[in-house]
Amino acid sequence: MSARLEPFTEDHEAFRRSVRAVVEAELTPHAREWDDAGAFPRELFRRFGELGWFGIRHPVAWGGSGLDAWYVVAYAEELVRSRCAGLDMAMLVQGEMAIPVIADLGTDEQKREFLAPAIRGEKIAALAISEPDAGSDVGAIRTTARAEGDEWVVDGAKTWITNGTRADFLTLAVRTGAPGAGGLSLLTFPTDVAGFSVSKKLEKIGNHASDTALLFFDGCRVPRRYLLGEENQGFAHLMQNFQGERLVAAVIAVAASRLMLADAIRYGGERRAFGRPNASLQVWRHRLAEHLSAVEAARWLTYRAADLFDRGAPAVREISMAKLVACDLAQRVAYDCMQLHGGMGYVLETDVARAWRDVRLLTIAGGTSEVMKELVARAEGL
Ligand SMILES: Cc1cc2nc3c(=O)[nH]c(=O)nc-3n(C[C@H](O)[C@H](O)[C@H](O)COP(=O)(O)OP(=O)(O)OC[C@H]3O[C@@H](n4cnc5c(N)ncnc54)[C@H](O)[C@@H]3O)c2cc1C
Repeated sequence: MSARLEPFTEDHEAFRRSVRAVVEAELTPHAREWDDAGAFPRELFRRFGELGWFGIRHPVAWGGSGLDAWYVVAYAEELVRSRCAGLDMAMLVQGEMAIPVIADLGTDEQKREFLAPAIRGEKIAALAISEPDAGSDVGAIRTTARAEGDEWVVDGAKTWITNGTRADFLTLAVRTGAPGAGGLSLLTFPTDVAGFSVSKKLEKIGNHASDTALLFFDGCRVPRRYLLGEENQGFAHLMQNFQGERLVAAVIAVAASRLMLADAIRYGGERRAFGRPNASLQVWRHRLAEHLSAVEAARWLTYRAADLFDRGAPAVREISMAKLVACDLAQRVAYDCMQLHGGMGYVLETDVARAWRDVRLLTIAGGTSEVMKELVARAEGL
């Protein structure tokens, strides 16, 4: 018997079906409403917590399910069917970007205080790395944490922080040491401390249902025990944490591309011009065939990266390649799927119009395409 190529077992598929059923019943019908409102209900964090979706691969001891990475892949693929990318991003930041590093490196106290309530959806989490003067160049972070007695005193600013306006705590990158990457540390940071403020909610091109904030820290005091991992090892901790984040971004990009293509094929098959369906014209049949082939290639590159990640093997090369390829491809797919929709592609009631705006973020957030190329080049010894 030949080796099985499909990475998903029957258990993964059963989980996928359960996610899809909830997404289609409870989320998709509200996609437009939440996008227009610029927010989704806070109670959804609780709902996701009840469903176990924030703790899929996190330890059972802290309320997670302790499952493998393929469950996360299936979850993220199905979440895209909400057609509300802002909601998807907020929820993936909570479960797959802000808390994995606490699960990996946190003390029992930090896990009890931050990880467990985030997994239950009781506390909202955000990952606060980027600053007004430091995005791609993480080593240039300026927000400082100064040790004073048994406290850290935090001063500085963070920007573009997803979930930032309503986060109960941050996984926060700060400078505790010398300039450069070697002087960074991570803190768990509750947002109810004096001196913390949400300066503003940023208006974005897409992903409207997700809030993105500019945050200020003015002499904020938190206990020394909130240090996450080792002092001045924050850069290395972040680089490890980025792997899960970038893998999820690649999964989202592939799933979004597949959904846009399915929609375009359906619409182009129904809409007629010059006596025949638009999608039956050779120019479109070939364009769609090219995209379907490229997306399939991106999907399997992403699965290869997921396999390495799942086995705890080095995966920076493959995850960076997958994010680069899948997120760049989603731009071209979005453009052509909108084009095949004609005028309907330009009105916001059509899913592809919102998807076109939303996928634009994928080559920017979580490490730009240019940064991915740098990482690939470095991994190849260039
Ligand atoms: C909607 C949204 C949500 C976000 N959510 C979060 C979040 O939750 N938490 C968080 O910490 N951050 C978040 N970010 C920030 C995001 O990760 C950064 O925007 C991203 O890392 C790029 O940083 P930058 O914006 O400072 O761009 P810059 O670093 O200023 O880069 C600008 C351009 O220069 C290019 N460039 C930079 N360095 C190089 C290089 N070495 N070689 C070639 N080209 C280069 C970049 O690729 C880019 O094209 C979010 C951003 C957005 C827009």
